[in-house]
Formats: sequence, structure tokens, C-alpha cells
Amino acid sequence: MKLRKLLLPNSLRGILLPLFFPVFLLSDAHIFVYHRFGDNRYPSTNTTVKELKKEFNYFKNNGYKVIPLKKLVNALKNRKKIDDKLVVLTIDDNFKSFYKNGLPIFKEFGYPFTLFVYVKATQKRYPDYTTWDQLKEIAKYGEIGFHSYSHPHMTFKSDEFLKDDFKRGLSLMKKHLDIEPKYFAYPYGEFDKRVKTIAKEFGFEAILNQNIGAVSSGSDILDLDRNALVGKSNLKRDLAYKELKIEWIEPKEFPQNGILKKIMAKLPDTKYAGYYLSGYGWHRIKVKDGKFLANVNKRLLFERNRIVINVKNQIKTKLLIKDRYGNR
Ligand SMILES: [Zn+2]
Repeated sequence: MKLRKLLLPNSLRGILLPLFFPVFLLSDAHIFVYHRFGDNRYPSTNTTVKELKKEFNYFKNNGYKVIPLKKLVNALKNRKKIDDKLVVLTIDDNFKSFYKNGLPIFKEFGYPFTLFVYVKATQKRYPDYTTWDQLKEIAKYGEIGFHSYSHPHMTFKSDEFLKDDFKRGLSLMKKHLDIEPKYFAYPYGEFDKRVKTIAKEFGFEAILNQNIGAVSSGSDILDLDRNALVGKSNLKRDLAYKELKIEWIEPKEFPQNGILKKIMAKLPDTKYAGYYLSGYGWHRIKVKDGKFLANVNKRLLFERNRIVINVKNQIKTKLLIKDRYGNR
């Protein structure tokens, strides 16, 4: 699989905000996602052991507290204030390289984690993925979440396919690990309203996406933002992101005719906001009375598009993904 394209759809890297924005000092929690460790065959999804240690030392030396996802989810559920400097670490795809190269470093630092399992890869013994026994071993040190059975592009699959995929994957996890995962991460971070509705039916306590952002009290527990850490990271910038408290009005979904007419939202009081649209770059617009209105009138260039709105270092993403089985 060409993971680069899948992981960084529409050059996600291009959407990163520059470092020079004035920052709000409120601290939100940050969830990060890793994939491979110490595996230089796949630089676009890999974190070297050296880099991982550097990142962990950064957390340690700058007062960040790495907590289990469970703790953050419970705080959100109980509407508790989210403490400063909280970090949650997750890993997608149960690659063998996590077991071999990543886990020892997590153990060394005593950092908790949640590993999201691509079940079919283990069940069919794909050589790059952990075995069931290795997952049992990993489960002693961290939480195990669900990452689908077959790792599909979910918006491209029918309701029936998706429900079968969840059922098959979850029952295999129960059978081999005796685990009923409480957390789910979308394959490729891709979802829309229909996919989310189906995922919710399986009763997960938290669902995680792969959108740049942060988590603060009031965040949607079934749509938590995660920043990907790949290659050389810029933790200082990533940790400076705050969640933009936004009310999306338009668009709700990928437009039927593929033309994005406008972006409308309600924002906290500000004079200016920026927005990014995949393939069209960043734009800055004036905001009046908390009303964000951008008349875009552009054809969406991809099947997967992102709109990102930012006010200084506060940021929120909306995915617009063509749904082959929805009403579009
Ligand atoms: Zn994945």
C-alpha cells in the first residue's frame, strides 16, 4: 500500500500553520499518532528510535504529562477541566516495528499508549504486523483499541460492508485477546457523517480522527483530533495548537455537484481568521460579529479534501470526503 498518499492526503504537510503566529496561552491536551518505529524502509510513516527518544525527552523536560487515553476520555466525560500540558500517545496499525523498536522506549520512559489494531493483518499473519501473542504482550503495557478489520477507505464502502467489518474485527479481538475495545480510530483518518453514525452504533467510548488540532473541555469525545508524528517532528509547534471552538454551518458534507460554494461558521470573537482548502492553499478573511463567511465557489479537486479554519494558533478541521454510498 502506498501509505504516504494515504497518510498525508492532499499534502497535509502543506496545511501546517507557520510557527510565527501569536499564541494563546491556554493549554489544551494533545493526542499524537505514530505508525512505524525504526523502520527506514518507509520514511513517510516512520519514526526513528533516536527521534522517538528525542520526543519523549522533550515531553519529559518540558513538563508534559503523558497520560492514558482513558484518563483524558474520563475527564471529558465528566466535564472536568482539562489540565495543562497533557499528552496522549497512540499508535495505529500494530506494525511489528512497534513491538520490536517502539515498545522498549515506551517502557523505558514508563509512557502509556493506546495501540489501534488492524485486525486482518494479524489474523492473516501479514509479515510486517504483530502476531496475536505479541499483542497479548503489548496489552500488558498499554491499551488496545480497534482500527477496523480490513482497513478500508470507509466512505467508499456500503453500510453493510462496514457493519460486517466492525463485527468481524471486534469478535476476533474478543476471541484472541479477550478484549472489547473501547476506542476506535478510523483507517486513514477518513470518515463522514454516515461512517461516524455506523461507528457509533458499536458503542465506543471514544473515536479518534487524524486531524491536526487539540482537545479541550467540551471536545466531541466521538471525534477527537490527533496529530501525526512522522520523521522529524516539530513538537513545539504541534503542542502550541489549540482547539478552535467553532460551530460549522456550511458545508456539512461533500457537496453533491462537487462545487464548494461557501464556508460558513460561527467563531469566538476575532477580527481575522484563516482558512485552508485542499489544493487551494491558505486564505485570510475578515470576521464580523463572530461570523465566518468565505465565498469560495470552487470545484473540489480531490475525493478527500480538508477545510481548516484557524484563528491564530486555534485550529479546527472539517473533512469533505466523497461518499460513494451516501446520498451524494
Ligand atoms: Zn491505519
